Amino acid sequence: MTEDLRRAARLAADLAVDHLAGIPGRPVWQPMGEAAAWLRDQPLPEHGRPIDALLADLASRVLPYPMGNGHPRFFGWVNSPPQPAGVLVEPVAAAMNPSCAGGDHAAVAAERCVVRWLAELTGYPSRPGGGLLTSGASLATITALAAARHRAAAADGWDVRAEGLAGRPPFAVYVSAEAHSCLRKAAELLGIGGRGVRVVPVDGQFRMDPAALRGALARDRADGLRPFCIAATAGTVNTGAIDPLAELAKVAAEEELWLHVDGAYGALGAADPAFAPRFAGMSSADSLALDPHKWLGVPVDCGCLLVREPAALRDAFSLVPPYLRDGGTDGPGWFSEYGPEQTRPFRALRAWATIAHLGRSGIEALVSRSVALAGLLAGMVDAAADTELLAPVVTSVVAFRYRPPGLDEAQVDAVNRAIPGAVQRRGRAFLTGTTLGGRPALRACLIHPDTTPGDLTILLSEVRAAGTERPVA
Ligand SMILES: *Cc1c(COP(=O)(O)O)cnc(C)c1O
Repeated sequence: MTEDLRRAARLAADLAVDHLAGIPGRPVWQPMGEAAAWLRDQPLPEHGRPIDALLADLASRVLPYPMGNGHPRFFGWVNSPPQPAGVLVEPVAAAMNPSCAGGDHAAVAAERCVVRWLAELTGYPSRPGGGLLTSGASLATITALAAARHRAAAADGWDVRAEGLAGRPPFAVYVSAEAHSCLRKAAELLGIGGRGVRVVPVDGQFRMDPAALRGALARDRADGLRPFCIAATAGTVNTGAIDPLAELAKVAAEEELWLHVDGAYGALGAADPAFAPRFAGMSSADSLALDPHKWLGVPVDCGCLLVREPAALRDAFSLVPPYLRDGGTDGPGWFSEYGPEQTRPFRALRAWATIAHLGRSGIEALVSRSVALAGLLAGMVDAAADTELLAPVVTSVVAFRYRPPGLDEAQVDAVNRAIPGAVQRRGRAFLTGTTLGGRPALRACLIHPDTTPGDLTILLSEVRAAGTERPVA
């Protein structure tokens, strides 16, 4: 048994390494076509097969069809390639297979360490129990907003965990027009409702406008709403914009609101001292959501929630009476007291290995390289006669438009709507689109450590090729 397992393990390791090594030579992405049916429609096997046989299936039927995010010319969404150190420790985490609900074992200690490291990297205060790993920023956001909701209700003399929300003034949370949909999802799940998500206009650089926020707060209070949270963004999905966090922290303090920062993609930018000033104010937030599975390249999934006041999380989630708590009332206790999950995976190991392998200097270098490349791409877009930059680059997202001479606005929109799919099908680069100011836009996110300036030239030539290949409406 052990020798068979060892042989299969080596085969699996070879598959993983060969896959990583072969990526640059393959199309960034290719449609699965017929191959999808084989995987999707497999009958439930009556009898098992040896692991080697399964690995052969992986080699021929699974590995050729990646999403594309391992490739240096993948610029879509915010999906990074996996850091190799994070990949290689996966079998170890799976072999230990702990539940990280809590207890006295290595996975829990590792998670405490990783959470503290992430706080240090982003300049956020770190306290025992002041955070936990999650499946991603979406769950981190739900967790943070639950704590914020609980604290606000308690300030009103209302126990939201016992009473729910019926019969009390409707809660309101404030987000910018560029905020991620996970905030709306969190509000819906928490009974705040989509109508309780108050959308604040952005300024010319796609940042939440604090004056508009103050106005909305005053109007909503007069209308009988109960504002409880400002949910700012550090690194928006469309343009990478960072809301004016210091100013928003001031508003939050004056208005006695919880300040949450969605730093899913962008917060890691603060790891580079050169860019940290752009995140001024982030460290005074009540909570910060960030995704090590984005810029840092920790293999999916690995999100993180950091909180200023650990008790606020525990108050919102713990079902353990204080007298039964692990370590007495002073110890941080179990992670399952700080969020909705009970059985929790050993996410910490892939994050620990990634950070330990890169070190602070490696992470700084990763960030500054991405930001520099984004600046370079923005410069190329700006300089060319047929492309137009749509927003300043403050993190590593470049929002732009293809605008060849001679097209009217409707034609420009049609061609930019068609370009992402056409670029993807061509297979030499992967780009996604978005809507900015109500109009179709192209958006490149630079987080792959191996992307080169030459890859940016290819990206723009692919955009042009896709733009001319498509029939213009
Ligand atoms: C990716 C992202 C999210 C959602 O995070 P998940 O890890 O996918 O749950 C939220 N906000 C921003 C700004 C993001 O980039």
